[in-house]
Amino acid sequence: MSTRWYRGSCQCGRVKIEAAVDLEAHTAKRSASPYVLVRSSAFRLICGEADLADQQFGTIIGLNRSCRFCGIRVFGKGHLAKLGGDFCAVAVASLDGGAEEIAAAEEAVAAFESEAAQ
Ligand SMILES: [Zn+2]
Repeated sequence: MSTRWYRGSCQCGRVKIEAAVDLEAHTAKRSASPYVLVRSSAFRLICGEADLADQQFGTIIGLNRSCRFCGIRVFGKGHLAKLGGDFCAVAVASLDGGAEEIAAAEEAVAAFESEAAQ
């Protein structure tokens, strides 16, 4: 488990977030969804609240939140008992560096840590 805080933003940078994500586990599932689910406590909206446009999910369990200037959906919010209550769905692509670069960075860190432990 390698959960850590990542920063993310929309294309124009008005909306900025932080989320504690285990991206290694997420990207390891090759068919992974473009969104990673985290509890509300593992999510922070740093700025851009006033720049967000909301759309209701079809199933009405939450809201899609996208930047009203660049249209990028950075995250969604919802509540589902099965998921432990309030959750956020963070767009992996909105995280800094992009999913693949982040996964590569995580692998490098893990390799370094296992080398250092020997
Ligand atoms: Zn934007």
